[in-house]
Amino acid sequence: MSLLVVGSLALDTVKTPFGSVEDALGGAAVYFSSAASYFSPVKMVGVVGDDFDAAALDYLKARNTDLRGVETRNGKTFRWGGVYGSDLNSRETTFTHLNVFESFQPKIPAEYRDSEYVFLANIGPELQADVLNQIQGPKLVALDTMNYWIDGSLSALREVLRSVQVLVINDSEAQQLSGEWNLVKAARAIFKMGPELLIVKKGEHGALMIFKDVSFFYAPAYPLEVLHDPTGAGDSFAGGFMGYLAQAGEINPDHFKRALVVGSTMASFCVEQFSVKRLVDLSQGEIEERFNEFWRMTQFQPF
Ligand code: AMP
Repeated sequence: MSLLVVGSLALDTVKTPFGSVEDALGGAAVYFSSAASYFSPVKMVGVVGDDFDAAALDYLKARNTDLRGVETRNGKTFRWGGVYGSDLNSRETTFTHLNVFESFQPKIPAEYRDSEYVFLANIGPELQADVLNQIQGPKLVALDTMNYWIDGSLSALREVLRSVQVLVINDSEAQQLSGEWNLVKAARAIFKMGPELLIVKKGEHGALMIFKDVSFFYAPAYPLEVLHDPTGAGDSFAGGFMGYLAQAGEINPDHFKRALVVGSTMASFCVEQFSVKRLVDLSQGEIEERFNEFWRMTQFQPF
């Protein structure tokens, strides 16, 4: 099944207690594709500047990622900087330079328009809507957003959410969007906005999935002993989630549950190294082994 992502391609400058990188490959669409392309071919939509080294994406091409939707513009690539505190849970954004993203108007190549699975990564809701309007009858649309857009572009966000089935956000964003402190109440409010499935990312505490009938499924985060950089964990999670669903080609609660664990698996690899390093050459065996670890970690006998 065809899977499309629109989002940032970036050069990230990141500092964590375990080291730092400057102008390293990053961006939501890059992390997403790095995880998703283990499961399904990905079509990418985004923009880079003329300072971007195209060879940096060769590993994605080798895994059937279609880059025809990535424009190269005169100017500088989107750059983002972040510094993490000692527990890796708190992050301060040191700079966001939109650069070529500022004037980006996505034009979806004709070959992309029948994409069945669509991930609208964290960008302005007007851009997300613009992309979605160019896709003919997608089967499943998932969206990520952040406080910045909930604060500054709420009506555009509410508009695009009407056409979205899966919302992937963190708990403070769910609270902010719904105006409800309690997550169950937040989910009920969000379901009235359009989405039918809510995924609440909780960083090192895993991810909670809430179905429209307000039943739950939860996956913990994998307890890693060595981790270096949480940047991109959320996008790698989304990549695993959507990549698995596109591969399965069928949408039902059991597939959503497995997708949540595949997402958690890919996020756990992401944080082991800076940038996308750990996601470049995983083996199928490594992915399956960790997925099965999640199963072992959460099995118990019910009453
Ligand atoms: P995450 O850790 O999941 O929040 O994703 C971090 C990635 O998102 C980094 O690689 C950044 O380049 C990218 N990013 C950060 N801020 C923005 C933004 N405002 N718009 C688009 N992408 C962003």
